[in-house]
Amino acid sequence: MNAPAHPQMHLHKVDLKPKDYKTDTPSFWCAGCGHFGVLTGLLRALSEIGVDPNHLVNISGIGCSSRLPYFVNSYKMHTLHGRAGPVATGVQLARPDLSVVVTGGDGDGFSIGGGHMPHLARKNVNMIYILMDNHVYGLTKGQCSPTSRPEMKTTTTPYGGVEEPLDPVLYMLTYGATYVGQAFAGNVKLASQLIKDGMEHKGFAFVNLLSQCPSFNDIDTAHAFKDACDQVPDSHDTSDLSAAMNAVNAAKQAGRIPTGLLYKTERPTLDQRMAELVERVGGHKDYDLRKIIDLARP
Ligand code: SF4
Ligand code: MG
Repeated sequence: MNAPAHPQMHLHKVDLKPKDYKTDTPSFWCAGCGHFGVLTGLLRALSEIGVDPNHLVNISGIGCSSRLPYFVNSYKMHTLHGRAGPVATGVQLARPDLSVVVTGGDGDGFSIGGGHMPHLARKNVNMIYILMDNHVYGLTKGQCSPTSRPEMKTTTTPYGGVEEPLDPVLYMLTYGATYVGQAFAGNVKLASQLIKDGMEHKGFAFVNLLSQCPSFNDIDTAHAFKDACDQVPDSHDTSDLSAAMNAVNAAKQAGRIPTGLLYKTERPTLDQRMAELVERVGGHKDYDLRKIIDLARP
């Protein structure tokens, strides 16, 4: 497949420190919240890549984690609950020269927004989706989420849950994400590395960051997450989808959480395919969403 005729990500490099990507907005997260680790990891990754804040868009839905864009020196869109993915898809198609980063929680992404997740992966939208997975709804004060473990008692499951939790990593592998990684948010070095590599990856990158909520989840604490994480061995073949799924399933059977880069592959992104469509149908090479829309007019 030919390369698209539009600018690629990260051409606009700058030399900024992590603190330069941080806004002055005071934090409204609780003390000890795992989301601080995610933010630190993201700021480090942006600095290491040299992303120009003028070419960075941080998009979120609703939730404690979805407030992260307030703290990042970037363009940002705080969208409806669960709708960050579709909005980000539109932004990425309209401006494929921008770096698009979605940040959000397990409830926002996999319950309210769950219908959108497979489509981001199968379309291979060129962006990174950072899930801040604390296995609970924090902002609305402690309801059961789709990743809650049944042994956790929440305001909506006071005697414990009766449902098996969804595994975001297995889900994304199944639906065709081309970059999948996982880390404990407190392991800022690994989280930052996965975010950096995911942002530099051409395609849909999904990074699941296990992020404790000390206010409303008293079983998935920072210590519990940290103790349960096992880095995948160097021998793990990140190009092998079956190996990735087997690694996750084997770890789950043993009550463990595999961390690191689990899977990475290359295939054409949605904007590349759209550019090819424009060239094939419209006879010109310049990628422009407006021209695609014009093609669709009767
Ligand atoms: Fe973090 Fe939980 Fe507090 Fe929300 S309620 S800020 S997720 S600790
Ligand atoms: Mg949550």
